[in-house]
Amino acid sequence: MKCSRVRRFLSAYHDGEIAGPKREEIARHLEGCAVCRQELEALKAAVETIRAAEVPDSPLYLATRVLAEIRQSGAGRAAARRPVWARVFASAAAVVLIAAGVWVGAMLGNGIAGSGSKANGTNEWPFEGTEPSFAEVYESMFTEE
Ligand SMILES: [Zn+2]
Repeated sequence: MKCSRVRRFLSAYHDGEIAGPKREEIARHLEGCAVCRQELEALKAAVETIRAAEVPDSPLYLATRVLAEIRQSGAGRAAARRPVWARVFASAAAVVLIAAGVWVGAMLGNGIAGSGSKANGTNEWPFEGTEPSFAEVYESMFTEE
């Protein structure tokens, strides 16, 4: 077997995709050919490097996987047809929405506590007990004193 032929099958050989007499033939050639052996070592090193970079559960890996899943979903496919700036804008908008949600949540929290203290004329929590039930909070929003 010629070196050029061995090189062509080297990747498949390394991945175990070649079996039987062809594999033996390549193995025999590698035994006697230092240049092809070196080529196989280089291939192994490259594969190791790629595998080491794909550490599962790393933030980058997770982000890549999440993005891949979004792309596979219908919404993602529609988004993928949009130009890059639109996708960047959509991502930025999502971040702004989350930030706005947190901000509004904080404002609402302050608002309920603030209006309560105004209605009572005191700084005490307007509801009986420490943990108002959802029904109590809901009712208080529509009850005028
Ligand atoms: Zn060779």
